[in-house]
Amino acid sequence: MSSDINRVIRALSEIYDKDSNDTYISLYFSAELDSKFIKKRKKSIESILKGELLDNFKKSMFKVEKALVHYNKGSVAIFSSNKNNFFEIIKLPIKIESTLIVVSSPYIRPLVRIMDEWESFTLVLVSSNYAKIYSISFGEIKSSKSLSKDIINKHKKGGCSQARFNRLRRGAIQQFLKEVVEELQKKVDKQIIIAGPGNTKNHFIDMLPRDLKDKIIDVIDISVEDENRLIKESIHLIAEKEYRQSNEAVFHLKQEILRDGLAVYGLEDTLQAVKNGQVELLIIEKDIKIKGWICEHCQIVKKGYKNHCPYCKNKVSQVDILEEILEFAERTDAEIEFSNDPELKNLGHVGAILRYK
Ligand SMILES: [Zn+2]
Repeated sequence: MSSDINRVIRALSEIYDKDSNDTYISLYFSAELDSKFIKKRKKSIESILKGELLDNFKKSMFKVEKALVHYNKGSVAIFSSNKNNFFEIIKLPIKIESTLIVVSSPYIRPLVRIMDEWESFTLVLVSSNYAKIYSISFGEIKSSKSLSKDIINKHKKGGCSQARFNRLRRGAIQQFLKEVVEELQKKVDKQIIIAGPGNTKNHFIDMLPRDLKDKIIDVIDISVEDENRLIKESIHLIAEKEYRQSNEAVFHLKQEILRDGLAVYGLEDTLQAVKNGQVELLIIEKDIKIKGWICEHCQIVKKGYKNHCPYCKNKVSQVDILEEILEFAERTDAEIEFSNDPELKNLGHVGAILRYK
């Protein structure tokens, strides 16, 4: 699922209306949170737009509301433009602050942030006779598969010698773990957490091929009955890892700046680098928007306020510059990290590690 959303984000980042402003509706909506929200925003926007733009808004919004009838629970992101014959709906498995905006391109920042914070992973619970492999994304179990085998009990009964009995038992466990490894190899997630009681999980890890071993981010000691606790703990681990990653990104950025290496920071320089396709990792401050304008016709983005583009004289769109930087980054396959680090703020709210200079 997450790889699908990544594909959609990439496609959305490529879209913009080069002829007119305010033609793409982006709606992020959690049904449980806010029932009057849409009505209110719709009224405000309709009181401002005129002529063709108003007509387009009403028609685009009609499609949005029609689709929403089927989503009276949970959260969604919807992008709609009647003029551009565009409609895309994405079900979001987590609650999200409601937003309804109309600009010249789909507003993707909340979506990208969700993907950054809720990385999907595979969780393997393994013991000597039972295993369960979970795919978890957005903090929820997407699918799971159980495997089990009748393994003879630890304490021997009947005729054979203790040594022979132990050998048989070990062989059966080995065979079972091999089946679990094979099952795990069918998974494509970038990160794996291994869990289970006692030593079996370590033995299991030893049996994994190199590429799977490299994906292990943590090992949890837990009994097989403790499923709920395990799910919670592993989701917590992933969140912590994301937090670390974002701190490391800011640290890396500062190091590069100190040695005048492969990095840029601040709006102007980052924007320039991301437009040139130089950005490997974009680091962006979490909860801030910076006012600016874009001329979709010339693909020029600048801070501040303008009505018309100084180059082509077309009307410009008022935008959040960080969103525009993000869209350029998505188009060029840059990695993206969001951060709350106050040092990033001092560096101008945004910075990037570069592929080349
Ligand atoms: Zn222009």
